Amino acid sequence: MNKTEMTRNMMNLLEKSTSAFHTVKAYEEELAANGFQKLELRDKWNLERGGKYIVNHHGTAVFAFTVGKDFAAEDGFRLAAAHGDFPGFRIKPNPDMKSEGYLILNTEVYGGVNLSSWMDRPLSVAGRVALKSDDIFHPTMHLIDCEDPIMVIPNSAIHLLRELGEKGAELNKQVHMAPVMGSCAVSGKEGAEFVQYLADKLGVAKEEILEYELNIYNPEKGCEVGLSKELISAPRLDDVSSVFAIMEGMKAAEVNSRGVQMGIVFDHEEIGSNSKQGAASTVLPTLLEKIYLSLGYERADYLSAIQDSLLCSVDVAQGVHPNYKEKYDPTNRPILNGGFCIKEASKQSYATDSEAVAIMQQLCDANKIPYQKCVNRSDMPSGGTLGSIASAVLPVRTIDMGIPLLSMHSSRELAGKEDIISLAECMKAFFYCIIL
Ligand SMILES: [Zn+2]
Repeated sequence: MNKTEMTRNMMNLLEKSTSAFHTVKAYEEELAANGFQKLELRDKWNLERGGKYIVNHHGTAVFAFTVGKDFAAEDGFRLAAAHGDFPGFRIKPNPDMKSEGYLILNTEVYGGVNLSSWMDRPLSVAGRVALKSDDIFHPTMHLIDCEDPIMVIPNSAIHLLRELGEKGAELNKQVHMAPVMGSCAVSGKEGAEFVQYLADKLGVAKEEILEYELNIYNPEKGCEVGLSKELISAPRLDDVSSVFAIMEGMKAAEVNSRGVQMGIVFDHEEIGSNSKQGAASTVLPTLLEKIYLSLGYERADYLSAIQDSLLCSVDVAQGVHPNYKEKYDPTNRPILNGGFCIKEASKQSYATDSEAVAIMQQLCDANKIPYQKCVNRSDMPSGGTLGSIASAVLPVRTIDMGIPLLSMHSSRELAGKEDIISLAECMKAFFYCIIL
């Protein structure tokens, strides 16, 4: 695949990844089209050497894995994990509000949102809806992506905020971030409209809808920007860029003949990973052990195998910003298109250890894949990733890595095109030891 095709494929994945559910769905569909077979965690498995498998966990976590053709008990695991959620807004129950003749929506903030970047944009809604069923313990679950722009969070006119000068408005999450869905003056609607809209979209009666997990998303497409189109401006680069790289890595599967390789998408990274679908879940060690048992090995073999395993926590990094250059470390200043970042923090908010880094550097050097080091300025609090959380649950050598971004957690983010490609190449090399 050439660079143009790879960029186009990444943009396609971004456009499909409108909720954590849809990120997982797109990942599953692409790998199913590449020969991965779906398994259910509740079933007994008969795994084959040379097999390619995918396991969904509660809709927003997914584990794709391959078993080497010459797999042996001591081979262990090569794991790479990204997250499919993104900062934004979740729609509350009983969401309809009416104010001054407008229909507005009651939402809560999800994750660390750059609030002002969501203003004045056409927005849509995606996620999952639970419907009545004949079997009370198994409601009918439907994914929904409204696709159309159906709401806007409007800014105040600057004229009404003169006291703030050029600083702009201070935004209250409850008061100022409610999206406007319509004007009653034209529609004549009286409220309680959002669930009716959902029901119409799904072709069911409103009474059938029991509950939902819905987020607001930016439906704008990504685009190439820059004098040589070397940058990408797009919503949800955090962390779809990493999901894409892992997916491309898994697609290179047939080359390998040893080990188990696993490409993971977790949920809830933006709110701390502490959930059944998040990196703090015990599902990963359970799943890895189940793979060993299904291949005819014992628990003791699995416990030995994890000692020689490796985990890549793949998530975006802070690229050095030309307009905020004082905010960065003096000697580790990653730039866009300078290669993906290896992230380090002594307090283990990034889980990197020097053994894992040494492995990754040798892999990149052998394949001429560029990389940079990313460390926070000592007086700046750092963000965290799922790496340290997952490595506490599964104690294996771990590295935190990902492409550098500008405007992280804005409604659109900015990345370097070359970095996305080099991260995808790195994932192929990591999983299947391909010398490119
Ligand atoms: Zn992230």
